[in-house]
Amino acid sequence: MKALLIVDVQNDFCPGGALAAPGGDKVVPVINRLMEHFDIIVASRDWHPKESIHFKKWPVHCVENSHGAAFHPDLNTKNIQQVFLKGTGNRDDGYSAFEATNLNLEEYLKQRNIVDLYIVGLATEYCVKESALDAVRNGLHTFVIKEAIQGVHQHEGDEEKALKEMELNGVELLEHYPA
Ligand SMILES: [Zn+2]
Repeated sequence: MKALLIVDVQNDFCPGGALAAPGGDKVVPVINRLMEHFDIIVASRDWHPKESIHFKKWPVHCVENSHGAAFHPDLNTKNIQQVFLKGTGNRDDGYSAFEATNLNLEEYLKQRNIVDLYIVGLATEYCVKESALDAVRNGLHTFVIKEAIQGVHQHEGDEEKALKEMELNGVELLEHYPA
């Protein structure tokens, strides 16, 4: 069984948002198209309290229940069966969807016999990468679909480094899906 995990396709990570990935919104139509290939579709959302040590590293973004924390308005959310909220504590970065606190993603996937996990979304170097590395640690056959991710490009070369690190740890990088 396979599942699609959509990481943090939220207003604040798209152009105009507080911590935008340049071109972050371009993944939205790609992800909407990908959805038709999956029966099980879940998503994560960065969901921070107003005050968090996380905001010593980053501009304030994705504060719970704010407009910035909402999904991008064009994302086809009716196909998303479960949303996982992460970064919900005030001492917690919550980069990985597997750190969600409202529900345990690892158990959710196990209960549905998921073997192959396909990951898309924002941003490549942080939440996509950490979610993919955790997926591998949890024994999942893990794919990242490159046409449906986007980096924040905080430092030159970060995105390439992140892709390398994922690959070295057993994540399969796909240019497109279906290949
Ligand atoms: Zn965050």
